[in-house]
Amino acid sequence: MSDASATPPPYRPATRAVTSGRPDHTPDNPLNEPLTMASTYVAGGTVEYGRYGNPTWTAFEQALGDLEGGRCLAFASGLAAVSTILDLVGQGATVVAPRHAYLGSIGQIADLEARGRIRAQLVDITDTEAVVKACADAALVWLESPTNPALEIADIPPIVAAAHEAGAYVVVDNTFATPLLQQPLDLDADLVVHSATKFISGHSDAVLGAIATRDAELFGVLKKRRDMIGAIPGTLEAWLALRGLRTLHVRLERAQHNAVELTRRLGEHPAVGEVRYPGFGAIISIVLAGGGIAADLLTHKTTLWVHATSLGGVESTFERRRRWKTEPATIPDGLVRMSVGIEDVDDLWDDLAGALDDLLPSDNG
Ligand SMILES: *Cc1c(COP(=O)(O)O)cnc(C)c1O
Repeated sequence: MSDASATPPPYRPATRAVTSGRPDHTPDNPLNEPLTMASTYVAGGTVEYGRYGNPTWTAFEQALGDLEGGRCLAFASGLAAVSTILDLVGQGATVVAPRHAYLGSIGQIADLEARGRIRAQLVDITDTEAVVKACADAALVWLESPTNPALEIADIPPIVAAAHEAGAYVVVDNTFATPLLQQPLDLDADLVVHSATKFISGHSDAVLGAIATRDAELFGVLKKRRDMIGAIPGTLEAWLALRGLRTLHVRLERAQHNAVELTRRLGEHPAVGEVRYPGFGAIISIVLAGGGIAADLLTHKTTLWVHATSLGGVESTFERRRRWKTEPATIPDGLVRMSVGIEDVDDLWDDLAGALDDLLPSDNG
């Protein structure tokens, strides 16, 4: 392995995405970290057993850690990482969290509260003053920015300052922005969590999670928790995610370019009541003028856009979010979350525009 953890590499992010986590440039070394399938190791070393470590995980962790500017641990899924962080909070402690966020994260927080483990305080993360106030008696402040699927943005620095004053840890779910568009550790957040299932893997073929931190003590605690509970990544998934990470910058650039253009065109279509796009990234949420029925129709009328949950793949997908019974009622019934892929933007638009036109009342109707 290259020694990137000792001193930060001098390269810019795109170069780091390509070069980090590679074997040394020793003659006959492979250029890529191989897929090492191993449940146990010869005794007397530092790893010993397959639940404690794997060179393929390490390569992925080094690459993602270099992009986030911290040390990284891979987990079985984004939610395994979320659960491991929430488990750090003491009995009865307060967790501040967004009222709109990834459903699985909110679901875990609600479940812990229902079982008397924590006290949850849900906030509108765009209301910085209210979030800062809520931080006062928090042990953990959970941020997601942009939020799923409302695409709200948190003003992270003042929230981090208030949380730290209260002695709380701050975690940022950076799944939507990716480390190329937002580096929460540089904004003094303590932890970054990822569903690497999404943009980082990027090909809709692996489920994986990750945590990054600069805090050596937290890193040690989280590593020990992962060892204990076995929320470890699959080796093939870590390998696939690292392969995906190599092209993150190229995929994101193209997907973001498409998203900016689609945002402009969607805003001019009469079947679309509202377009939410935070100005960066590849996720757009639209609210159909015709409400939930129109949203359902749209997601079944396209041929290129696939109706599917999840996001961040090379292929464009979209989903009417309120089809999930647990989606908060504050998310509009007609909201469709769009994950813009890397196809030709004109094909994406032609497919969408055709389906949107069909939602309009006919001229003589
Ligand atoms: C998908 C997702 C998760 C959960 O990750 P899994 O890999 O599906 O377990 C967490 N946060 C966000 C923002 C997500 O999109």
